[in-house]
Amino acid sequence: MSLPDSELPRTEDEWRVRLSPDEFRVLREHGTEPAWTGEYVETKTPGMYRCRACGAELYPSDTKFDSHCGWPSFDDAIPGAIREIEDNSLGMARTEIRCARCDSHLGHVFRGEHFTPKDTRHCVNSLSIRLDPSTA
Ligand SMILES: [Zn+2]
Repeated sequence: MSLPDSELPRTEDEWRVRLSPDEFRVLREHGTEPAWTGEYVETKTPGMYRCRACGAELYPSDTKFDSHCGWPSFDDAIPGAIREIEDNSLGMARTEIRCARCDSHLGHVFRGEHFTPKDTRHCVNSLSIRLDPSTA
């Protein structure tokens, strides 16, 4: 499922041919899919959510919760899988999250909202992830 390191694209042009135009816009150009349109907003299927660009494991399905914000939301991630970057675009102080392996954009992380005991909400574009359903 996961791309071998030797096959990881090195340039944006290499990514462009691998991804659909919508995936490219979100993953490589930091786009955001419209709320409530993503395929995983309400998904409860058990499994592992992987980076849609490189296949790295990001979020086990048991970290997903209903935030009612219109995007898939997770309160934890695989240790080391996510990189956080300060994002002051659009006049807001937010924290962007990217795949630590391939540097693709996932969404933003918010803390202090009290949704879950971990008090963390990874707000992720469905276009940035792919569910690998568990067969167990
Ligand atoms: Zn990745």
